[in-house]
Amino acid sequence: MILKHVFENGSEVTLDQILLNKEWRAHKQTQLMTRVPEASLVSIKMNIPGAMKQSPAILAMFQRGLKTLEHMYGQSIIDETIDFDRPTGPEAFMVLNQSLHDAKINGIRFEQTDSLGRIFDVDVMAASDDGQQLSRTELGFDTRKCFVCGEDAKICARSQQHSKTEMTEALDVIYQSFLADQGERVNDNATD
Ligand SMILES: [Zn+2]
Repeated sequence: MILKHVFENGSEVTLDQILLNKEWRAHKQTQLMTRVPEASLVSIKMNIPGAMKQSPAILAMFQRGLKTLEHMYGQSIIDETIDFDRPTGPEAFMVLNQSLHDAKINGIRFEQTDSLGRIFDVDVMAASDDGQQLSRTELGFDTRKCFVCGEDAKICARSQQHSKTEMTEALDVIYQSFLADQGERVNDNATD
Protein backbone atom coordinates (compact mmCIF):
# COMPACT_ATOMS: atom_id res chain seq x y z
CA MET A 1 0.00 0.00 0.00
CA ILE A 2 1.29 3.45 -0.88
CA LEU A 3 1.01 6.05 1.86
CA LYS A 4 -0.07 9.53 0.86
CA HIS A 5 1.69 11.70 3.45
CA VAL A 6 5.30 12.16 4.42
CA PHE A 7 4.75 11.62 8.14
CA GLU A 8 2.16 8.83 7.90
CA ASN A 9 3.15 5.86 10.12
CA GLY A 10 6.20 7.82 11.21
CA SER A 11 7.99 7.81 14.56
CA GLU A 12 9.22 10.74 16.64
CA VAL A 13 12.58 11.20 18.30
CA THR A 14 13.67 13.19 21.33
CA LEU A 15 16.23 15.98 21.32
CA ASP A 16 18.55 13.65 23.25
CA GLN A 17 18.38 11.07 20.48
CA ILE A 18 19.21 13.74 17.92
CA LEU A 19 22.20 14.96 19.95
CA LEU A 20 23.47 11.40 20.51
CA ASN A 21 23.09 10.75 16.81
CA LYS A 22 25.22 13.80 16.01
CA GLU A 23 27.97 12.32 18.16
CA TRP A 24 27.56 8.94 16.46
CA ARG A 25 27.84 10.61 13.04
CA ALA A 26 30.91 12.65 13.94
CA HIS A 27 32.59 9.51 15.30
CA LYS A 28 31.67 7.51 12.22
CA GLN A 29 33.01 10.23 9.93
CA THR A 30 36.33 10.41 11.77
CA GLN A 31 36.63 6.64 11.70
CA LEU A 32 36.01 6.45 7.93
CA MET A 33 38.37 9.33 7.17
CA THR A 34 41.13 7.79 9.30
CA ARG A 35 40.80 4.51 7.43
CA VAL A 36 41.43 6.10 4.00
CA PRO A 37 43.09 9.47 4.76
CA GLU A 38 43.52 10.57 1.12
CA ALA A 39 39.86 9.92 0.24
CA SER A 40 36.89 12.28 0.32
CA LEU A 41 33.96 11.39 2.51
CA VAL A 42 30.32 12.05 1.67
CA SER A 43 27.84 12.05 4.53
CA ILE A 44 24.22 11.75 3.36
CA LYS A 45 21.07 12.36 5.36
CA MET A 46 17.62 13.85 5.04
CA ASN A 47 16.88 17.47 5.85
CA ILE A 48 13.51 17.06 7.60
CA PRO A 49 12.56 19.66 10.22
CA GLY A 50 10.70 18.62 13.37
CA ALA A 51 10.72 15.60 15.64
CA MET A 52 9.63 13.04 13.08
CA LYS A 53 12.65 11.77 11.20
CA GLN A 54 11.57 8.31 10.05
CA SER A 55 8.54 7.13 8.10
CA PRO A 56 7.94 4.85 5.10
CA ALA A 57 7.79 7.93 2.84
CA ILE A 58 11.04 9.42 4.21
CA LEU A 59 12.78 6.09 3.73
CA ALA A 60 11.48 5.66 0.17
CA MET A 61 12.70 9.14 -0.81
CA PHE A 62 16.07 8.55 0.86
CA GLN A 63 16.51 5.32 -1.08
CA ARG A 64 15.72 7.04 -4.38
CA GLY A 65 18.10 9.92 -3.66
CA LEU A 66 20.83 7.55 -2.54
CA LYS A 67 20.50 5.58 -5.76
CA THR A 68 20.98 8.80 -7.75
CA LEU A 69 24.05 9.71 -5.68
CA GLU A 70 25.49 6.21 -6.10
CA HIS A 71 25.02 6.52 -9.83
CA MET A 72 26.54 10.01 -9.84
CA TYR A 73 29.68 9.16 -7.82
CA GLY A 74 29.81 5.81 -9.65
CA GLN A 75 33.29 4.36 -10.03
CA SER A 76 34.79 6.73 -7.45
CA ILE A 77 33.02 4.95 -4.58
CA ILE A 78 35.60 2.91 -2.65
CA ASP A 79 33.38 2.03 0.28
CA GLU A 80 29.79 2.64 1.33
CA THR A 81 28.01 2.35 4.67
CA ILE A 82 24.22 2.58 4.76
CA ASP A 83 21.94 2.66 7.78
CA PHE A 84 18.32 2.81 6.67
CA ASP A 85 16.81 2.16 10.10
CA ARG A 86 18.19 4.84 12.39
CA PRO A 87 15.32 6.34 14.44
CA THR A 88 16.83 9.76 13.72
CA GLY A 89 16.48 9.15 9.99
CA PRO A 90 18.27 7.10 7.34
CA GLU A 91 21.94 7.93 6.72
CA ALA A 92 24.72 6.81 4.44
CA PHE A 93 28.46 7.43 4.03
CA MET A 94 30.53 7.06 0.89
CA VAL A 95 34.30 6.96 0.82
CA LEU A 96 35.38 8.38 -2.53
CA ASN A 97 38.39 8.33 -4.73
CA GLN A 98 37.58 11.88 -5.88
CA SER A 99 39.05 15.25 -4.97
CA LEU A 100 37.30 17.18 -2.21
CA HIS A 101 36.60 19.95 -4.70
CA ASP A 102 34.91 17.68 -7.27
CA ALA A 103 33.04 15.67 -4.64
CA LYS A 104 31.68 18.92 -3.21
CA ILE A 105 30.61 20.26 -6.58
CA ASN A 106 28.79 16.99 -7.31
CA GLY A 107 27.09 17.02 -3.91
CA ILE A 108 25.88 20.60 -4.34
CA ARG A 109 24.73 19.87 -7.87
CA PHE A 110 22.59 17.03 -6.53
CA GLU A 111 21.11 19.21 -3.75
CA GLN A 112 20.44 21.94 -6.28
CA THR A 113 19.11 20.06 -9.30
CA ASP A 114 17.61 16.77 -8.16
CA SER A 115 13.83 16.84 -7.52
CA LEU A 116 14.57 15.61 -3.96
CA GLY A 117 17.76 17.63 -3.55
CA ARG A 118 16.27 20.28 -1.27
CA ILE A 119 15.36 17.71 1.38
CA PHE A 120 18.79 16.07 1.37
CA ASP A 121 21.95 17.03 3.19
CA VAL A 122 25.01 15.93 1.27
CA ASP A 123 28.07 16.93 3.29
CA VAL A 124 31.49 16.39 1.80
CA MET A 125 34.70 16.38 3.84
CA ALA A 126 38.26 15.05 3.84
CA ALA A 127 41.00 14.40 6.35
CA SER A 128 43.26 16.64 4.26
CA ASP A 129 40.74 19.50 4.44
CA ASP A 130 42.59 22.51 5.84
CA GLY A 131 39.39 23.79 7.38
CA GLN A 132 38.94 26.45 4.73
CA GLN A 133 35.58 25.16 3.64
CA LEU A 134 34.69 26.32 0.17
CA SER A 135 31.22 27.77 0.28
CA ARG A 136 28.55 27.17 -2.33
CA THR A 137 28.96 30.69 -3.69
CA GLU A 138 32.76 30.34 -3.91
CA LEU A 139 32.19 27.19 -5.96
CA GLY A 140 29.93 29.12 -8.31
CA PHE A 141 26.55 27.99 -6.95
CA ASP A 142 23.62 29.85 -5.44
CA THR A 143 22.95 29.69 -1.72
CA ARG A 144 20.86 26.74 -0.56
CA LYS A 145 17.15 27.16 -1.31
CA CYS A 146 14.38 26.66 1.24
CA PHE A 147 12.15 23.71 0.29
CA VAL A 148 9.05 25.66 1.30
CA CYS A 149 9.46 29.02 -0.46
CA GLY A 150 12.61 28.78 -2.58
CA GLU A 151 14.33 31.69 -0.80
CA ASP A 152 17.68 31.43 1.03
CA ALA A 153 17.24 28.42 3.34
CA LYS A 154 19.50 29.86 6.07
CA ILE A 155 17.41 33.00 6.39
CA CYS A 156 14.15 31.03 6.59
CA ALA A 157 15.61 28.71 9.24
CA ARG A 158 17.04 31.55 11.31
CA SER A 159 13.86 33.60 11.30
CA GLN A 160 11.68 30.48 11.67
CA GLN A 161 9.84 31.72 8.64
CA HIS A 162 7.54 28.74 8.19
CA SER A 163 5.02 27.08 10.47
CA LYS A 164 5.05 23.34 11.05
CA THR A 165 1.90 23.01 8.93
CA GLU A 166 3.49 24.92 6.05
CA MET A 167 6.60 22.73 6.16
CA THR A 168 4.56 19.52 6.32
CA GLU A 169 2.49 20.65 3.33
CA ALA A 170 5.62 21.48 1.34
CA LEU A 171 7.09 18.06 2.18
CA ASP A 172 3.85 16.39 1.08
CA VAL A 173 4.03 18.21 -2.26
CA ILE A 174 7.60 16.96 -2.78
CA TYR A 175 6.57 13.45 -1.72
CA GLN A 176 3.55 13.38 -4.02
CA SER A 177 5.58 14.46 -7.02
CA PHE A 178 8.12 11.78 -6.07
CA LEU A 179 5.27 9.21 -6.09
CA ALA A 180 4.01 10.46 -9.45
CA ASP A 181 7.55 10.19 -10.79
CA GLN A 182 7.88 6.63 -9.47
CA GLY A 183 4.54 5.76 -11.07
CA GLU A 184 5.76 7.05 -14.42
CA ARG A 185 8.87 4.96 -14.13
CA VAL A 186 6.81 1.86 -13.43
CA ASN A 187 4.63 2.62 -16.47
CA ASP A 188 7.67 3.29 -18.62
CA ASN A 189 9.07 -0.09 -17.67
CA ALA A 190 5.73 -1.75 -18.35
CA THR A 191 5.64 -0.45 -21.93
CA ASP A 192 9.25 -1.41 -22.67
ZN1 LIG B 1 11.39 29.60 3.13
